[in-house]
Amino acid sequence: MIREAKRIGMSGVGVSGGEPFLMRQMIFQIVRLAKQQGLNVNLATNAFWARTYDKAVEMLQALKELGFKTPGDGIAISAGQYHLPHIHRDCSMNLIKAYKAVFNASLTRLDFEYVAGNEQILADFKAFLASEGILETDYKLVERTVFQTTGNARIQAKEIINKRPATVFQGLCPWIKDLIVEPSGDVYPCCGFNRYNKGIVIGNVKRQTLEEISNSAQVMPVMAMLKKHSFAYLHALLAKKFEIEKTADGLCDICEIIFSKPEHVDYLVEQFSYLYDHPFLSQPYFPAESAPIEIE
Ligand code: SF4
Repeated sequence: MIREAKRIGMSGVGVSGGEPFLMRQMIFQIVRLAKQQGLNVNLATNAFWARTYDKAVEMLQALKELGFKTPGDGIAISAGQYHLPHIHRDCSMNLIKAYKAVFNASLTRLDFEYVAGNEQILADFKAFLASEGILETDYKLVERTVFQTTGNARIQAKEIINKRPATVFQGLCPWIKDLIVEPSGDVYPCCGFNRYNKGIVIGNVKRQTLEEISNSAQVMPVMAMLKKHSFAYLHALLAKKFEIEKTADGLCDICEIIFSKPEHVDYLVEQFSYLYDHPFLSQPYFPAESAPIEIE
């Protein structure tokens, strides 16, 4: 897959979780192959393995020997309200320090999530890092206070629901530029949570090559809809025929409402059949634009 990714024009490989470093031999193999192909590598981790500074350095040195380097490659730590009860803050601290020592660079990203109103958790975390001699320039902080109750989060997210009327989601999805491969082999066009209910599956790597998948995704009715119509518009159309939720807490949530039921997709495909021989469908799937393709 990694060799093929390069051939079809992808620029990088990312591994996220679960926790990818639970399978460190696999991580090493992915990094080695990706670097041989000249692809960038991004790894997301909760940093559990950085229990001591020495362990963090050891792991980063191993990655470095496989060709991992900055800029280009990166590591993102997932931390915050839902991680801290399970992963000690020392792990983040050790990893940030080790990253600086090994790569002479600031940590690519520290994703810190908390529910709005709990700002103190972040303030305490930053104060702790500062007390350990870590500067704010030693890591790129990304605060996440907006949660979408899609996929697995629905089960435990009652406290963070921030629903808005479907009419506010006037935009197109800006994220459909990836091939996300799940352990089952199913491939999705985004890391959005719609994948938890198999809302938009574009192929399976156990049966198809990445090239076949990207080619077929290019002409899939669902992908054409995503590139052409706002979620608000698709929602309004569906609401005329189906009883559907009227509010959502983000793009992926409304996307899930629209695309997670086969009867919704069948209905929309029927409505937009005129769209599916449009010339834009013959453009290559990669290199994908970060912004969706707008058509007249
Ligand atoms: S809005 Fe839909 S297509 Fe876009 S990232 Fe979310 S789940 Fe994926």
